[in-house]
Amino acid sequence: MTARDGWWFFTCGNQILLIPQGHCIPHGQWNDLALNRDISEPCERFAVYQSEPCYRVELTECFDLGFGQWFELRETMSQLNAALFDLAGKAIQFALFLDTHRFCGRCSKPFERVHWELALQCEACGFRAYPRVSPSIIVLVRKGKQILLANHRRHQQDPPMFTTLAGFIEAGETAEQAVVREVYEESGIKVNNLNYFDSQPWAFPHSLMLGYFADYESGHIRLQKRELSAAHWFDVDNLPLLPPHGTIARRLIECAVDQIKQESDEL
Ligand SMILES: [Zn+2]
Repeated sequence: MTARDGWWFFTCGNQILLIPQGHCIPHGQWNDLALNRDISEPCERFAVYQSEPCYRVELTECFDLGFGQWFELRETMSQLNAALFDLAGKAIQFALFLDTHRFCGRCSKPFERVHWELALQCEACGFRAYPRVSPSIIVLVRKGKQILLANHRRHQQDPPMFTTLAGFIEAGETAEQAVVREVYEESGIKVNNLNYFDSQPWAFPHSLMLGYFADYESGHIRLQKRELSAAHWFDVDNLPLLPPHGTIARRLIECAVDQIKQESDEL
């Protein structure tokens, strides 16, 4: 094992080991981690954070290592800073990629690791595979002083959480076409005046969310009931339960709310 200081991303499926007191990824030299069991799994350098290497150590079980505590990746969003949360997602996505690409999809021979980049290669036919990234759009639709938010069927809680609309980009489609299509399919609303905001890797399991603002053009809300249980135009001073801080959805909503309030103050 390396004698350099580094960040140690112990993963097991969707779980990652954190030092709960410090709300952080284990840090230091391997020998200083005081593991209470022998870890034979290879550790692999996969990134750099604050000029120090990040290693992922993939375990088959969420062992008690004598320190730290296992958390679902989603739970760590409120504990890690944005950069470490993205790196935790990266470590888990690589593990998922290796687990789901053991054989070549073209000729079915076993894949081999490529050691100079994060890829797998088939020695028999030369086919190379990279970790899957699925681009998705997420969009805040504005109509005057109101914003469109929806309650997804997977967010059934009390009170219900409302968030922005989102969906995968289809093959052959631009991100902007996907925004227009997804909003119309999910809500029956036509939008225009798209503005790109920011992006966020979203390792559930391998999305890259591209955030947009859009303006209402026409139409009445008509729900796609397979995915949504409700959608409404909300006044910015009477908002429902929103998605957690750290999500691009929350940032889109807060940015639009600030802008609408600022415009109202200027009147
Ligand atoms: Zn092959």
